[in-house]
Amino acid sequence: MPAAQPDPVLRNLVATRRLMAWFLAPVFVLLLILSSLQYRQRMAEVEAQQQRLAEQHAQDLQLLARPAMDHVQDLRRLMEELWLQPPDPGPALAAQLAPREVGGRADGWAIADPAAGLRWGQVWWAEPDGRPFDPLWLRRAAAFVNQARVAHARAPGFEATWFAAMDLNSSFGYPWIEPATILQSMGVAALRELAPLRAAAAARTRARLAAQPPAIEDAGASHWGPPYRSQLAGHLVVSHMAPVRVGAQIVGEVSLDFRLDDLQARLRAWALPGERDWIVDAARQVLADTEQGPPGEQQALTGWASRAPDGLAEPHLRAALDQGPQSVGDWLLVAATRPGSPWTYVSAVPRAELRARILPSLLPNAAIALALLLGLVAAQWLLARHFVQPAMQLLAYLRALSADHRAPAPRLGRRWQVWVDSLGATFAHQFHLLQRERGSEARKSAILDHALEAMVSTDAAGHIVEFNPAAEQMFERRLDEVRGADVAELLIPPRYRARHRAGLERLAAGAAPSLLGRRLEMHALRRDGSEFAVEMVLWRSELDGETNYTASLVDVSERQQARQQIERQRESLRQAEKLSAMGSLLAGVAHELNNPLAIVMGRAGLLDDKLQGSPLQADAQRIREAAERCGRIVRTFLNMARARAPQRAPVALNDIVRAAADMLAYTLRSHGIALELQLDPDLPPLMGDADQLGQVLLNLLINAQHALAEKSAGEEPRRIVVATGVEARRPGGREPRIWLRVQDNGPGVPAEVRDKLFEPFFTTKDEGLGTGLGLSVSRSLLREHGGDLHLEGGEPGRRGASFRLSLPISGVPEPQADDSDAQPAAERAPLRLLVVDDEAELAALMREALEGAGYEVATAESGAVALALLLEARFDAIISDLRMPEVDGAELWRAVQALHPALARRMLFVTGDILSPAAAEFLRDSGCPALEKPFKPQDLLAAVRRLPLSAPEEDHHDAQR
Ligand code: ADP
Repeated sequence: MPAAQPDPVLRNLVATRRLMAWFLAPVFVLLLILSSLQYRQRMAEVEAQQQRLAEQHAQDLQLLARPAMDHVQDLRRLMEELWLQPPDPGPALAAQLAPREVGGRADGWAIADPAAGLRWGQVWWAEPDGRPFDPLWLRRAAAFVNQARVAHARAPGFEATWFAAMDLNSSFGYPWIEPATILQSMGVAALRELAPLRAAAAARTRARLAAQPPAIEDAGASHWGPPYRSQLAGHLVVSHMAPVRVGAQIVGEVSLDFRLDDLQARLRAWALPGERDWIVDAARQVLADTEQGPPGEQQALTGWASRAPDGLAEPHLRAALDQGPQSVGDWLLVAATRPGSPWTYVSAVPRAELRARILPSLLPNAAIALALLLGLVAAQWLLARHFVQPAMQLLAYLRALSADHRAPAPRLGRRWQVWVDSLGATFAHQFHLLQRERGSEARKSAILDHALEAMVSTDAAGHIVEFNPAAEQMFERRLDEVRGADVAELLIPPRYRARHRAGLERLAAGAAPSLLGRRLEMHALRRDGSEFAVEMVLWRSELDGETNYTASLVDVSERQQARQQIERQRESLRQAEKLSAMGSLLAGVAHELNNPLAIVMGRAGLLDDKLQGSPLQADAQRIREAAERCGRIVRTFLNMARARAPQRAPVALNDIVRAAADMLAYTLRSHGIALELQLDPDLPPLMGDADQLGQVLLNLLINAQHALAEKSAGEEPRRIVVATGVEARRPGGREPRIWLRVQDNGPGVPAEVRDKLFEPFFTTKDEGLGTGLGLSVSRSLLREHGGDLHLEGGEPGRRGASFRLSLPISGVPEPQADDSDAQPAAERAPLRLLVVDDEAELAALMREALEGAGYEVATAESGAVALALLLEARFDAIISDLRMPEVDGAELWRAVQALHPALARRMLFVTGDILSPAAAEFLRDSGCPALEKPFKPQDLLAAVRRLPLSAPEEDHHDAQR
């Protein structure tokens, strides 16, 4: 696991703590320096104080020594005076003296107070040399002892004071000591035995004094001896001695034994804890030592050097006396003495002890440092408790909130709770805003993702940042491949790129955005490099100083094509309108031609009949045929032009072919096109709308004619073949059908347009020539008939185009046997017919034709006349024109219907007006048959024969009514 990165906030905190520590460090250092300086100063002070104390003790010692020395000098002077002026033996003296005896022999006297039983002193007198005792000595001794007794009473440290005669075996002293004790202490049995010892001592004194002559003559050349244990009381003492001189002769020596226990006691009293103190004499013999046991204890008398702690030696002591305190090893050595003082005070203090004394004075510093330290720790603790920890918790809360706005809030102190609450509230608010923004974002991106329009956004430099799915589809590129790419490189055709970039630069330079917000038509580039037309709206958005351009694009290439197509269709419609206007005009003309044509045809027919066998018959026949052809053309044209509901009736397809061929014969011929008909003579009739089928055939023929017009001269002759036939019936296959093929040897249909041929408005022809409706209308008409239309083969350059249609032949009613044809009308009672036509010629023609067939015919030149005739005579049927002035055909029928309802059912209308909707409607409502002008006499006869001309009873009933 990788080591966890320390929290930056924690790092920060640690750094802050470190900073505080660094801030405090100099204070500590300063404190340390100050303390060290103070320590040194205090140490120096302590050393000086030690020195001062030593000086003081040295002075004390001098003061202690002074009485002893004065005492000895006083006695010395006394003895010198007594020597020169011998004292009077007072009366009291004898009383004071008591002979002293040792071993039964008097060898001295005790100086005593017999009354009190006290003995103060004693006098020794030995007579080894045989000299008698001189009483002068007793007087001297008494004076000496008395003075010594007074001094001793004042100075408790004085052990004993003696005078020893130099040349005599005699001495005296204070206090009284049992002679036995003295002798025992000296190791002799009798005083006399002391003589040699005394002589030796005197010799030593003399030698000493000779070696060390007294500096001041009358100072008495006093002298301190080494310490020793007094043989009398066992005390440690030191002797102070002064020679008694008489003239140049030393006659004796005064000595004082000074007890050292007092010095010892004082030294102990002076000693400070931890110290090692000594009092030494000039020869460095130790007189008192703080480590010495209490008085009376066995004590070694040694030199200072052997007692001093390790490392301390005489030179150090010397230096201490001369130069002041000395540091030796771990010791501070101080020593002091006074001029004339016999003793030196020496003190050694361990440094540790000194430090221990100083340290209390440094306590304030330590206290300050400690306080600072504690302050720091406390500050850290307080900081941690009251700021850092809550702040960390707050931070943790902040982090938790940023992940989940419902993170549980920590419970912090009152001061921090405000922060917690406001953080929670702020995040909740933020979250709410974010939710709203997200919702809006989601809606917008849903809009963007599902928009039908392509959306492309770029930054200010033209780099793509957004590309919605519609754009992906439009440009055939994916978002991840175009993101960041230059929009100009990818989506704009090369020839517009420079302009696009220049525009962007102008915008960046602050030019007014002229293109923004407007609908623009431009060209865009697909992945394969093909261009297509788009309509675009461009807008600019600014966010945080960042500019984006967004384009909404619609592919308008199809719309443009559609617009062009509509334009073409509109043109076609204009053309069609023109044609239809011309059609109705031509229809009017054709209608007007009907009557004369009907007359020509009728008359030619009659003529033909009349001229049978005559050489003129052929001429009459030609006229009739030409007239019939005219009739067919006019009828076909009128059929085509009339607007009427499709009617299914038995139709002979071959006739329709012939009619169409007749109609186009001239046009084809004038274009050098040969039309060849290969019609199956046994073609059965089919149920269909002759007009519609004629229209289909005309379309196919006109298309072929147009195609052949493209053929250049010199190629094979232009030819159209129309063929019909019956489809071979396949076993189990469909019902039998008939087919018709229109084939030309024109350029044929290019492979790429074959599929579109039957689409409405598809045309390859120039404006004004084609409408693109012909084939599609033809196919739908044929499909209504249960048939179909196909393009066969048709490879260019080979066989031209060949269109084949097929139609079912089922549903045709069996043709009824026409008995009227079989039985001539003349054999029956002649039927009476009324012919009504305002065109007298036509009426006459019809009458002639009908009479020729054996009918009895009356004519009426108007409806009104016809009604009058009907009232006068009975008729079996009426043949009437439809359009007549005043009472027209329809009015006549209504009148007949009222008079003779049966007769009304036997009315045949001849009309050239089937074009008009009113006429068509009347014919449908009345149910009467109609015969279109122009017609052949046979047609008329056939139509008359189809009328229900029997049932005379019914007629009779009608007549009676
Ligand atoms: P229109 O004749 O008004 O163009 P059509 O639907 O009748 O409309 O014909 C559609 C297209 O079919 C024609 O424009 C032509 O290109 C093609 N076409 C029709 N007949 C032939 C043909 N016999 N030979 C070659 N092309 C033909």
